[in-house]
Amino acid sequence: MTIRFSNYMPEIVATRRYLHQHPEIGLSEFETSNYVAAQLVAMGYEVTRGLAKTGVVATLCNGSSGRSIGIRADFDALPILEETGAEYQSRNPGVMHACGHDGHTAMLLGAAKILAERKNFDGVVHLIFQPAEENFGGARLMIEDGLFDRFPCDAVFALHNDPTIPFGHFAFRDGPIMAAVDECKITVNGRGGHGAEPQDTADPIVAGASIIMALQTIVSRNVHPLDPTVVTVGAFHAGGASNVIPQRAEMLLSIRSFDAKVRDQLEQRIRGIAEGQAASYGMTATVVYERGYNATINHKAETDFVRALATRFAGAEKIIEMERPTMGSEDFAYMLQARPGTYFFVGTQRTPDDPPLHHPRYDFNDDILPIGTSFWVELAEAWLPAK
Ligand SMILES: [Zn+2]
Ligand SMILES: [Zn+2]
Repeated sequence: MTIRFSNYMPEIVATRRYLHQHPEIGLSEFETSNYVAAQLVAMGYEVTRGLAKTGVVATLCNGSSGRSIGIRADFDALPILEETGAEYQSRNPGVMHACGHDGHTAMLLGAAKILAERKNFDGVVHLIFQPAEENFGGARLMIEDGLFDRFPCDAVFALHNDPTIPFGHFAFRDGPIMAAVDECKITVNGRGGHGAEPQDTADPIVAGASIIMALQTIVSRNVHPLDPTVVTVGAFHAGGASNVIPQRAEMLLSIRSFDAKVRDQLEQRIRGIAEGQAASYGMTATVVYERGYNATINHKAETDFVRALATRFAGAEKIIEMERPTMGSEDFAYMLQARPGTYFFVGTQRTPDDPPLHHPRYDFNDDILPIGTSFWVELAEAWLPAK
């Protein structure tokens, strides 16, 4: 792999570490937004702010072609107390760039600078710096604020770093690549009392345990075996003492799927099981079901384009075809519903023991900055070939 533009790299590393030191939670990325916008203005971009509150779009036109490209980086952080011990550790305790969005933003800012200095393209580049990927669906909010009406993009592209993929490898998938995610809270409404007098109570712990076991049959017995789905009960809260039967029990669920009909089926079965099981114990269940991000579905032509470029860029031995989508989720789904494009992963693994994304000791691997930055430059220049 030939890495070009290496003279830009010290500055890009410094940017990544500055962003890492100053993490902000989704839709509160005010300093990050100011920092990103100021850099882009200095590079000569036309900068538009305020989409999804803190979002930034930077536009650069060159030549006469009407072709256009959108490249997106997310810039929000997570509510995690950092434990990396890095010299550039978060200065905002309890908030941390634990998903590498600092790296995504640094790479796109680096590419922005190189693209602006080379001006080796014919068309329109829109660089989309997006807030709130982790919580509020900043991608959807930017689209609702007119992203693609105001900044028409023939196609949109995004990447995510992945410490489980060998360093410098690119992972692609046509069609579905990440799942839809929903959340559900089930409250079993019982009747509390003395732990020694169960006959006078309606025990929501027993009903809740029964609901949890019955929920396991949705994926195994209701959904088609070839439709990938997950129903996880991630929290079960009830009671606080051995001799007290509590008034209620609460469960929090994460539900993953791809197909819209299956998604409806999951909601309907969860409601049916929770309410039916509770009723069988003489209780009621309250089910609050909230739809989260849609599934991320890549477009074939754009995936082919990026895969071919990555093959020339990194070599065929560094290209991974994902056999399966991941059950994680990503709000770039909404951009891919609005415009053609593709989402892919870039491997950043140092060792197989690397802390995973969202871990308090995770740290974006700066060694990938030259690769990611150069790749975005190559993609923009290949999508918008100069005459
Ligand atoms: Zn994340
Ligand atoms: Zn992420």
